[in-house]
Amino acid sequence: MKSSPKLRPCLWDALVVLLVAALAAACALAVWGGHSGSGPLTAVVTVDGAEAERVELDRLKGTAERTYSGGGYTLRVSMEPHGGVRVEEADCPTQDCVHTGTITRAGQSIVCLPARIIIRLEGGPVDKDAPDVVIG
Ligand SMILES: [Zn+2]
Repeated sequence: MKSSPKLRPCLWDALVVLLVAALAAACALAVWGGHSGSGPLTAVVTVDGAEAERVELDRLKGTAERTYSGGGYTLRVSMEPHGGVRVEEADCPTQDCVHTGTITRAGQSIVCLPARIIIRLEGGPVDKDAPDVVIG
């Protein structure tokens, strides 16, 4: 009586639960991606409120070096293929943009207030705390 007669049904249940969970996750991902996956990951650079450049990171062959100027300051920006944008060097007084480090996901941004330059990542998967995989 103290053997485990319920082992097999339990295992089967677990398998079914896993399968359903996997399916649900796949569906959620598909729907989610369809809504927010607005194309390739793109770095959008805004200088003084006007869009200066869009760089599709997936199309970069290698690390791209760009310089942007605004408000009398110059930012040297490096962009990696498939994500990874950072301000390497800036002559602004606060250096906040440099200290921000590397941004890799859509929704993240680097802001340089003195130069009035904003580098924002758009497209690709959105970096939210994925609420679709809250299981157990
Ligand atoms: Zn700055």
